[in-house]
Amino acid sequence: TTPATAPATTPSRLVVLAGPTAVGKGTVAAVVRETHPEVWYSVSATTRPPRPGEEDGVHYWFVSDEEFDRMIAEGELLEWATVHKVARYGTPRKPVEEAIAAGRPALLEIDLQGARQVRETLKEDGLEALFVFLAPPSWEELVRRLVGRGTETEEERARRLDTARVELAAEQEFDVTVVNREVHAAAEQLVALMRSGIPDRRRL
Ligand code: 5GP
Repeated sequence: TTPATAPATTPSRLVVLAGPTAVGKGTVAAVVRETHPEVWYSVSATTRPPRPGEEDGVHYWFVSDEEFDRMIAEGELLEWATVHKVARYGTPRKPVEEAIAAGRPALLEIDLQGARQVRETLKEDGLEALFVFLAPPSWEELVRRLVGRGTETEEERARRLDTARVELAAEQEFDVTVVNREVHAAAEQLVALMRSGIPDRRRL
């Protein structure tokens, strides 16, 4: 719902989407990609191997450890992080800058550590972004989704739950919270936020 008085806004087209593991960031981002081709979507580089059905350059740029080291050394990454202690993920800088320069609404779907780094980097570059926290409807629902995905081992799942518990507490650092009750509704809220400026802190 639109507030009666317009919130103080700064024009922004760059949205950084983060949230706890298995909250559905990837699914929401995929729906935005499918239904809103005008939105530019950042493809991350990762050192983890592709899962079945994942394509290089579409889901990720799958790179070797050596190539990832080179990208860091050359300053080619806007941010990077080791996620779940097993693989490195990073956002290539140049495509983001080009999308912003071209005035396209841009979406970065990254983990919490990455979101914090991007906030610092963007500030240094004088760029604005809207930081959106994707929250689960409840803790129980988050656990159900994490277990339901079934692509991780028991040990990996336990590690991800530990991470999720810490990550949930980060909600207050974000500009806006979107609760992922239903993926298409969450995707539409995200697109609406890309079209508006930076609103006051709120929960959708
Ligand atoms: P997955 O391996 O399941 O595709 O992703 C694992 C985690 O890596 C997710 O929490 C996802 O948000 C995060 N991730 C994906 N791309 C990036 C990135 O470019 N930078 C950072 N910091 N995290 C990322």
